[in-house]
Amino acid sequence: MMNVNKIMDKALCRISLTDKEVLYLLQLTDPLQREKLFLTARMLRQSCFANQVFLYGFVYFSTYCRNDCTFCYYRRSNTGCARYRKTPREIIDIACALAESGVNLIDLTMGEDPHYLSQHQAGYDKLIEVVALVKQATKLPVMISPGVVPRNVLQELKNAGASWYACYQETHNRQLYETLRVQQSYDERWAIKVYAKTIGMLVEEGLLVGVGDCGEDAVHSLREMNKLGAEQIRTMSFVPQKGTPLYSRTATNNMDEINLIAVMRLLFPDKLIPASLDVEGVQGLKERLNAGANVVTSIIPPEAGLVGVSQSTLDISEGNRTVKGVLPILRDCGLTPAATAEYVSWLERKQGQAAKGEAVCE
Ligand code: SF4
Repeated sequence: MMNVNKIMDKALCRISLTDKEVLYLLQLTDPLQREKLFLTARMLRQSCFANQVFLYGFVYFSTYCRNDCTFCYYRRSNTGCARYRKTPREIIDIACALAESGVNLIDLTMGEDPHYLSQHQAGYDKLIEVVALVKQATKLPVMISPGVVPRNVLQELKNAGASWYACYQETHNRQLYETLRVQQSYDERWAIKVYAKTIGMLVEEGLLVGVGDCGEDAVHSLREMNKLGAEQIRTMSFVPQKGTPLYSRTATNNMDEINLIAVMRLLFPDKLIPASLDVEGVQGLKERLNAGANVVTSIIPPEAGLVGVSQSTLDISEGNRTVKGVLPILRDCGLTPAATAEYVSWLERKQGQAAKGEAVCE
């Protein structure tokens, strides 16, 4: 018989949790037991990061994509979505406005846009230039999410100033993966992240929940994330997207995602774990922070003509997905935005460390 209090004591003492214990926590539904889980997650966050939270500005600079992921609004064959590709000038201006507003990092994300990825070196050079220009203009750490790129290109992106490579497997259940990331090699996607680590980049790995996965899949994913040694791990709930094969699938409530955020914090106390504004907007931020998240992602300036990934418009034009918009929520949670110098110092410490597994999932 599982006992939440005993599992929490183990977690606080940094004693390894078994797969069964992890699965049990992921499936908690009782409000009191869940609150114990969240309280422990917050205590562990406090021990590693005090009350500081990092803020990430999101620049989704191209919504064109050569892929056909079944869950994604911007999949190639969705003719119903409005697409755009921002010019380098526009990207720089947006990034500078975000920097001025107080974010700690610029997240440059795109679909696998053929303009950049299917013209051989000429296309890659344009992408590398965007990274260099944004780095130069903002002086902030840069994360890139360009999809799968060749190794030499990743190295050049790093040389241009990208500290982070974000690339999400979404699931580590290979059969499910094949139905989500259609005709994209699981192994190739994984290998480029492993490579990113060997050249000294920090890696973000991510899971999509509520898309056909089960609790055991989540436990398996946590193990795989540990093997990869990703420094940032995120989970987001599936949001059905119009014009996609999964549009008719019923979205589950956010319980799986919130439990998973907390369990991630228990297993990986010193990792960065995002609370994404891209699922439930600012309204869902407090719940995610209270579950142990320590990064606010998908901060998007209003009137820049940008969209989010799974909630393309939610809270953007209202100006809620801004630093100013999230500050009262941080305060409510007893949290404070970290100075960029703090973030850079964390980042440099991590980059200087040899990658080593820190999970406690047995
Ligand atoms: S998830 Fe990314 S790679 Fe897949 S279709 Fe959407 S934008 Fe393209």
